Amino acid sequence: MDGDITLRLDRATAEDLYAALYEAGEHIAAGAPITPPTREEAERVGRFLVDLGHSLGRKCSPYCEHLA
Ligand SMILES: [Zn+2]
Repeated sequence: MDGDITLRLDRATAEDLYAALYEAGEHIAAGAPITPPTREEAERVGRFLVDLGHSLGRKCSPYCEHLA
């Protein structure tokens, strides 16, 4: 459909995203603690957020030149 976004994730990033979204949901629903990510997890999720932002047309920085 027009405006849809297709993402392709490596398994580690998909696992990180699943854990982050699941823990955020449990935190909101029941106050469960959120486990701080490891440095590697934070870096993978950070790269994912940049890619997703670009897919949504958002600049990753004021100097972003990644958008067509
Ligand atoms: Zn960019």
